[in-house]
Amino acid sequence: MEPVPLPQAGGAPAARPLSDWLPRLAAARPRGAYAHVPFCFHKCHYCDFYSFVDTKDRQGAFVDRLLEEARAASVLAREPLETLFVGGGTPTLLADHELERMLRGLRAMLPWADGAEWTVEANPETVTEGKAAVLASCGVTRVSMGAQSFQPALLRQLERHHDPASVARAVGLLRAAGIARLNIDLIFAIPTSTMAEWQDDLAQALALAPDHLSCYGLVYEPGTPLRARLEAGGVERLDEELEAGMYEHTAATLAAAGFHHYEISNWAKPGEECRHNLLYWEDGEWIALGPSASGHAAGLRWKNVAVLQEWLEHGPWSPVRSVEALDEDGRIGEAFLMGLRLLDGMREERVRALLDHGARATQRRAAIDAALARGDMEWSSGRLRFSERGVLTSDSVLRELL
Ligand code: SF4
Repeated sequence: MEPVPLPQAGGAPAARPLSDWLPRLAAARPRGAYAHVPFCFHKCHYCDFYSFVDTKDRQGAFVDRLLEEARAASVLAREPLETLFVGGGTPTLLADHELERMLRGLRAMLPWADGAEWTVEANPETVTEGKAAVLASCGVTRVSMGAQSFQPALLRQLERHHDPASVARAVGLLRAAGIARLNIDLIFAIPTSTMAEWQDDLAQALALAPDHLSCYGLVYEPGTPLRARLEAGGVERLDEELEAGMYEHTAATLAAAGFHHYEISNWAKPGEECRHNLLYWEDGEWIALGPSASGHAAGLRWKNVAVLQEWLEHGPWSPVRSVEALDEDGRIGEAFLMGLRLLDGMREERVRALLDHGARATQRRAAIDAALARGDMEWSSGRLRFSERGVLTSDSVLRELL
């Protein structure tokens, strides 16, 4: 990676407006946009996203500023955008009128393709009839629901403050409002959890008839209270064998229920894959809106400042502290990292072309040969991909390829 240097001030990189990179961004061809809403009802102990407890006094200023940023970023969107993903944080914690103002503003400020996919993340407790009506009337086509678990004791372990019954209630309200596409997020390998509990979580999620499921093993992210508890001995990691068994059970159960396992942690009914996330995994370009949002376009990757007040005070372009331009080797590493997360894998010609270039070509070839020899990777229908068992240990192979 070849970082674009930013002047240092007091040890921390100084922030510069993204507009300083506009000459380079003239070549941008974004196909989507990500908007980050940083407010949450409560900070969950495992979460390392940029979010904090909402004091309700900055929602209006946040929406004003986000729309100002969208208006500026519209110069990058030369073609109609195909996807919007509003994540966070908890976007549905915005008051109904602010959520509506944000969504209608985004619709007006940026060009959208017919049939664009608009996803909004929702916390079940925040979905009311009014909120569902706002989402539907503003053209949201898909909601991603953070259920995480249906076991009250496990939700307490995660410090999640919702009642499991609220998930079904929220899903009912969204469907009644006319939002057909639904993802449910679940977390497995929560400390103390059992296989029976995970089987029940999957069964309860499937009973809600989602068209998409994201199932992640719990990660003890550095800097989170959960990680501190782990390091202090206050909580124990689940046994690795049990975690692997939960993942295998997930793959088998969801395959039997008609879901296509298309990414390491994501399953969809045919044709219901998340188009926005595919943009990330297929090395596409998107623009970033809101504090801490990351963007990728014209060979640059950047991250807006992750401090709400700093982002509010500087506009219309967000201040950024790091902008990276990948060199050839970095681009090849990323192409493998992203392409192999998709379970269909990468076309043989693409793999061979990538292995012909880059400073680390020899090491990458060796890593792939070793994974093939172990049976962790396979060639299938002219594509290189992780085998069913190789998916479980894919992280270490991906690290070698990066
Ligand atoms: S609701 Fe989501 S974004 Fe907010 S603290 Fe919990 S995990 Fe993080």
